[in-house]
Amino acid sequence: MLTLFFSLISLPYAPNALEPVISQETIEYHYGKHLQTYVDNLNKLVAGTEYESMPLEQIVAKSQGAIFNNAGQILNHNLYFMQFSPVAANNHLPQGAILEAINRDFGSFEAFKAEFEQKGTTLFGSGWVWLSADKDGKLIITQETNANNPVTKGLKPLLTMDVWEHAYYIDYRNRRAAHLQALWQIINWDEINRRYAE
Ligand code: MN
Repeated sequence: MLTLFFSLISLPYAPNALEPVISQETIEYHYGKHLQTYVDNLNKLVAGTEYESMPLEQIVAKSQGAIFNNAGQILNHNLYFMQFSPVAANNHLPQGAILEAINRDFGSFEAFKAEFEQKGTTLFGSGWVWLSADKDGKLIITQETNANNPVTKGLKPLLTMDVWEHAYYIDYRNRRAAHLQALWQIINWDEINRRYAE
């Protein structure tokens, strides 16, 4: 029997709650199959190794190869799926400390969104675009390829968009930019503020 060192997160919303931005079918594949596979793979790979009882962030900082790829993708997807709330929710505009930091470091929310979407659209191949904070709380947008996460650069990840094709191909086909533009409608800025304050 497979020991569960890591388990699939529970989503804080119903699988159809993010429609029409992300369909139930995409959630069923992206969360139910892709993320589940990364969890299953990591559980097999870490059995009997020093990584069994390590937090994901630490595995990502220390490991390489298949363990890094699967742990990185779990960490990335956990942060991704936990940052959303239904379109009808009332928390899709930044407020408080995160808004002040966005205005300070990017000039305006509109300028921040434009740079974020541009970096997500121009990332060649599979990967993730991230908003992170450095040690002084300064905000930075980075492109990370494949399973990489800004924690490997000493940054605190706050918000991300997945630009692997599996994230958008069912709903948007090849229109990555349209998908990224739509995601702002379901970002839970209370959660981003919570991460920033942590
Ligand atoms: Mn993904």
